Amino acid sequence: MTAKRVLVVEDERTIAEAVAARLRAEGFEVHVAGDGPGAVDAARRTRPDAIVLDVMLPGFDGLEVCRRIQAERGVPVLMLTARDDETDLLVGLAVGADDYLTKPFSMRELTARVHALLRRAARNAAPGETAPAEAAMLRFGDLEINLAERRVHRAGVEARLTPTEFDLLVHLAGRPRTVLPRERLLADVWGWADASGTRTVDSHIKGLRRKLGADLIRTVHGVGYALEVQR
Ligand code: CA
Repeated sequence: MTAKRVLVVEDERTIAEAVAARLRAEGFEVHVAGDGPGAVDAARRTRPDAIVLDVMLPGFDGLEVCRRIQAERGVPVLMLTARDDETDLLVGLAVGADDYLTKPFSMRELTARVHALLRRAARNAAPGETAPAEAAMLRFGDLEINLAERRVHRAGVEARLTPTEFDLLVHLAGRPRTVLPRERLLADVWGWADASGTRTVDSHIKGLRRKLGADLIRTVHGVGYALEVQR
């Protein structure tokens, strides 16, 4: 089996080197880029299986890097944010980042997230896991989820969801009107469970509400979320 390739994009050398060293120790082939243009170029050259991407970069920022890379080829992205900046976060998720970590983070947490990203990507790409044709469409009132094409329409209008938003919606749709705890969504959709990660779920729920309508998902405070659909 060839080693999975990870591109680390970070201009702070000490962090970049520490992250690269840890990922190499985990068996990954690691490439490092230190600015926006260099990151886009490295993604083209090395075709990574996953990208660890800092938001604050010289040249242009990580959000622009993510936008450009995702436009060419879908790659799982773990975004690193300097602080819990909600705007960065929402923009990041909107341009196709799958997950994020707030600095400072532990190397253990970082590697756990990278492994989870790759597991999810493999699961999504696995042949034979595509739904059979008759089950390929979920319909709830005016919400239509096409599982085979991974497309979603509400009231006839297509919503452009990120891969993670789509997976989250499908999970909620699997048990409509049932409250699913955030920890469980985190474990099922992201492939890892750690109470610190439940904000990742909240952020993606925000994205779904923005794109599909605020009425679609009900929050049960302190517990989780439920898809509110007509019978
Ligand atoms: Ca930086």
